[in-house]
Amino acid sequence: MTTPPETIIQLQGRLLLTFTIVAKTGLHIGGSPGVLSIGNVDNPVIRDPLTRQPYIPGSSLRGKMRSQMEKQYGRPQNNSIGNQVKIHTCKNADDYASCNVCKTFGIPGEHAHSETSRLIVRDAFLTEASVEMLDKARTDLPYTEVKWEAAIDRVTSAATPRQQERVPAGAIFEGALVFSLYSRGSREDDLSELVLFSNVIEGLELVEQDYLGGQGARGSGQVELKDLELQLKRGKDYDQERRIVTGVNLEALREGWEQLLGRMKK
Ligand SMILES: [Zn+2]
Repeated sequence: MTTPPETIIQLQGRLLLTFTIVAKTGLHIGGSPGVLSIGNVDNPVIRDPLTRQPYIPGSSLRGKMRSQMEKQYGRPQNNSIGNQVKIHTCKNADDYASCNVCKTFGIPGEHAHSETSRLIVRDAFLTEASVEMLDKARTDLPYTEVKWEAAIDRVTSAATPRQQERVPAGAIFEGALVFSLYSRGSREDDLSELVLFSNVIEGLELVEQDYLGGQGARGSGQVELKDLELQLKRGKDYDQERRIVTGVNLEALREGWEQLLGRMKK
């Protein structure tokens, strides 16, 4: 495969989106049993090793956004990573040029036409108010509840009780993501990649419609994004900040975002 002639890729700016993630139902994002588990539950949640508070890893939110986008656009699951996980990866530049998934989330480096990933999703930690609320609520374990579930043996029909650790509904996390805008060639002031951010908003919408973490089919992990604020950072050291869109929820952010794109086209 030949490299296209215009290989100068220049960073033009960054979009920073901050938001809160509200757990509408109990949230279970699995940690590794035994390592950080408190109280020996069967399925512990992931916790910050320093504060011991549960959190939402950026990789969980990002991975869910990506897999939902792959389903939404019916992209082929053609790339094995790790043992059992398959993801979609465009294998040539032509496919890539028309693929919103790969353009937004990037593709692994071993492919010849590999592209920088534009999207970084930060870990989301409990707000101070939520920490206080959960402290006072005297939950089963620190900041979490333990839900008992019966696993039914398919052959003998015997029910085996299993424990599921969850962050209770109502808990609020503070989330953030960064989306980098590049240009090809040396043109200054090229913000043509701004339109790609619509994919990020769509990815978040799809997560809201589905769930985050485990046991979603049984009701866990329903989340809602609130208090969204989008900033554009440009200039040397990204010191020029401009708040461009805000929204009380994702729907409002989407509306503001589309109005902004409309104004830019004029
Ligand atoms: Zn692709």
